[in-house]
Amino acid sequence: MRRTTAQRVAQCEGWLRQNFKPPRGYVVRVRWYPKLVDKERNERGEREELQGRHYSWERKHEIQLSRRLNRRVDDALETLLHEWAHVLVARVSRDVEDVEHPDEYWLAYGRIYREWFDCGGWDESHAIEV
Ligand SMILES: [Zn+2]
Repeated sequence: MRRTTAQRVAQCEGWLRQNFKPPRGYVVRVRWYPKLVDKERNERGEREELQGRHYSWERKHEIQLSRRLNRRVDDALETLLHEWAHVLVARVSRDVEDVEHPDEYWLAYGRIYREWFDCGGWDESHAIEV
C-alpha cells in the first residue's frame, strides 16, 4: 500500500516512540508547518529556510517539519530522525547550548540511524498503524 509522506512520517514517529523513548517525563509532539524560517540570521544577514526544527521548554518538546522542504518521503523521514535525536540528548545539550550538535548528539543520531537504516527499522515501521 502506497502511503503519503505524512503517513510515513507518522509511522516513523510511532517507531521512534517504541524504540527511542524520550527521557521519562518528557512529552514530544510532531507538527507540520507550511514553511520554516530560521529566527537567527546567517553571516550574510539572511534567514535560512529550514527542513525541521526542535524546540524544547521544560519537559515539552516540539519537532517542527516544513511541508515545503519535506515533500519527498525520504527527506521527511531523515528530518524527523535528525530532530528526534535532539530530543534524546536534550538534558545533555542544555549544558552545551552554544554547540548545536555536540558529540552526544551524533552518538544519539548514529544509534537511530543504525537501527533505522541498517537493522530493519525502515521495514518494521511499515507495520505501524497510523
Ligand atoms: Zn539539528
